[in-house]
Formats: sequence, C-alpha cells, structure tokens
Amino acid sequence: MSFCIELTGKTAIVTGGSSGIGLSISQVLLNAGARVMIIDIDEKRFISVKDEIKKISPEFDFYEADIKNSEKISETVQKIISKESKIDILINNAGIVKDGLLIRMNDEDWLDVINVNLNGMFYITKNVLKHMVKAKSGRIISIASVIGEIGNAGQANYAASKAGIIALTKSIAKEYAARGILANAIAPGFIKTIMTDKLPEDVKDAIKKGIPLNRIGEPYDIANAVLFLCSELSGYITGTVMNVNGGMYM
Ligand code: NAP
Repeated sequence: MSFCIELTGKTAIVTGGSSGIGLSISQVLLNAGARVMIIDIDEKRFISVKDEIKKISPEFDFYEADIKNSEKISETVQKIISKESKIDILINNAGIVKDGLLIRMNDEDWLDVINVNLNGMFYITKNVLKHMVKAKSGRIISIASVIGEIGNAGQANYAASKAGIIALTKSIAKEYAARGILANAIAPGFIKTIMTDKLPEDVKDAIKKGIPLNRIGEPYDIANAVLFLCSELSGYITGTVMNVNGGMYM
C-alpha cells in the first residue's frame, strides 16, 4: 500500500513562516496542495524568499503581524477568514530565544520570550479555534522543543515557554476533541536555522556528538513531521508530543 499526502482544498496558517523551520513547513504544505497563509513579523524577510516559495505554488499569501500583539493577531485572523472563508490547519511556529543565566536574566528578556513563544500561541489559537469549532474540524500543530521537556542551563525563559506550549497543546486536545479538532506538538532537537547558526562551531560539534543519528537536523525533518500530523494518516493522534531529534536525549 502506498500513501501520498494530499492537502488540496485545505487552508493553513503558518506563523513565522518565512524563515527556517516555518519556511520549510510553508513549502511542504504548498507542495501537498494546501493554500498557505504566512504570518510573520517582518515583510522584508518574506520578500527575500517569495520567489523561492512561488516555484512550488502560487497558492500563498503573506500577513505582517507581531504574534505577541493580541489585537493585531485577532484582526489578521479575521482578514484571513474574510478572504479564505475557513482555516483547516494552524501551525504555531514563530519563536525566539533570549538566552542567559537565570540570576542575570532581566525581566524584559523573560517576558519577550514568554510573550512571543507562549502568549503568541494563545492569541492566535483562540481566534482560529472559534472558526474550527464552527467547522467541527481542524488541526493545530505547535512547535515546542526538546528543551521544553528536559530544561537547559541558560534557557530558563525558553524552556518555560516551550513546556507551556506542550501543556497548552494537551489542554486544547482535551477541550476540543469532541469538536473534531486535533492538537499536537512537535519537539525538535537541534535544527540548522538562523536561530542555531549563531552558536560557536565547537558548541555545535559537541551537540552533534550527542545525536545518535550523527547529524544536525534540517528544517525539512520538522516540516515532514508537520505534514504527517496535518494528514488523514494521523487522524487518531491528539494531545501528543512528537520528538524529532535524531535520537538526542533518549
Ligand atoms: P527562525 O529561523 O528564527 O524563524 C522564526 C521565525 O519567526 C522568523 O521568521 C521570525 O521573524 C519569526 N518571528 C519572530 N518573532 C516573531 C513575532 N513576534 N511575531 C511573528 N513572527 C515572529 O527560527 P527557527 O529555528 O526556524 O525556529 C522556528 C521554531 O522552531 C521556533 O518556535 C523555535 O523555538 C523552534 N525550535 C527550533 C529549534 C532549532 O534548533 N532551530 C529547535 C527546537 C525548536 P524574524 O526572523 O524576522 O525575527
């Protein structure tokens, strides 16, 4: 038996969809036939990748919005609904890091990370859920992190935000299962993107040594897992965390 994942006729939102993992998710969903609405904080980055995306499919749109701005996110979801009439898939991917030891972490760095990574997910999910509830169907996939499961020195704010994403996902799964809405999280390990490129080479080498599959992950490794969780193949999976990390920390 062979399966081909087909998302033709589905409309997806991808937050932070013009860079790194989010860009790869946007491309994979377009490739499967979905219409993809990218929400990102800066249109300039989107413009730099627009032609690359267009090569796959013209079925996308871009909305500039800061995920931590509740009002702007509500307006953006409304605009998408007016144009698309429905949202079948929500990918909560936008995220930032502001690392530092807890004892020296200022309130701003704590709050920025929680506001973008966790509160941002809350703002957009509650707005999208209203429409999914009416439609009695939907998929919500949120990008957490292995750090949200095991913690990390120097990343208390990030770890707390990602653990929050996992708990919020499990709660959404329970609250909306009866409405046909499935919510899952993906916990990536170490993936090659702008976020991780900043790390010194010796740190990256040390991380790679701890990965049983002996390579740093690529954005498409996460995008492929997202595709599975958007598909009919995962129709009995909700409230889970899928670890996509090359065997790291097992
Ligand atoms: P990335 O390349 O920096 O992509 C993040 C995207 O989110 C960027 O386009 C960024 O825009 C956007 N963004 C940032 N703040 C935003 C805001 N306030 N509102 C809307 N969009 C915003 O990072 P990535 O590595 O692909 O990370 C994607 C997700 O995967 C994040 O949630 C991250 O925590 C998670 N993750 C990554 C790794 C990894 O190893 N890379 C591992 C585990 C989990 P700008 O670039 O213009 O700021």
